[in-house]
Amino acid sequence: MEKAFNDYLAKHNYERFDLKALLFDMDGVLYDSMKWHAKSWHETMTEYGLNSTYDEFYQYEGMVGFNTINHIIKRERGREATEEEKKEMYKRKSDLFFKYNDNSLIPFAYDFVKMVHDEGMECVVVTGSGQASLLEKIESNFPGLFKRDEMVTAWDVKYGKPHPEPYLMGLKKAGDLQPNQAIVVENAPRGIEAAVAAGIFTIAINTGPLTEQSLRDAGANIVLPSMEALYNNWESYYKELTSKRVDK
Ligand code: CA
Repeated sequence: MEKAFNDYLAKHNYERFDLKALLFDMDGVLYDSMKWHAKSWHETMTEYGLNSTYDEFYQYEGMVGFNTINHIIKRERGREATEEEKKEMYKRKSDLFFKYNDNSLIPFAYDFVKMVHDEGMECVVVTGSGQASLLEKIESNFPGLFKRDEMVTAWDVKYGKPHPEPYLMGLKKAGDLQPNQAIVVENAPRGIEAAVAAGIFTIAINTGPLTEQSLRDAGANIVLPSMEALYNNWESYYKELTSKRVDK
């Protein structure tokens, strides 16, 4: 695994990591909620007479909701979505999600965040979600581990993933950090693209139906099958992360 870290440092011309923060995507990384998002999106589209498949919403994961709506309307109707459609459909999707979502966590998500928090890492949530109850939810499931004023949500950004903006904002909120001072944990191709475009080392956790290769193709530096695997590998990663780049 040393190679992934060395390759990153060489590519970005850094001597070493200076790890201060972990930036966590929310859905599919902290919460086992993507199945409910996909179901809610698919049902909303069907209600509005728009064709879609359940699985395709895993491809759009991480995108701001309005952009997902625009994408489908463009494809199915050959035009941009109106502001009214975006608001209405996003509201419908949010209501359905609220109805289905059971707030269950990804196994080992709490354990991992708690461990790195206790090691002194700043933990930051960077999500394309704009759920109204998001901050309370995080606080109740991860008490004391994430700071409210450091979270990046749909309401903070103009572009959203796959644009690097959310992760650049995450670096800023974590204390004006440089890319080599943070690591991103993501599960979706667009989120990975955003993190990589922001110049940050990105660990992908494959918690959905996509292939590991699709996460590698998006640019992930490391791909793991689960949060449990990250939890178990962290000690050896941390050793690598605190050592200097090895030139060959
Ligand atoms: Ca996600």
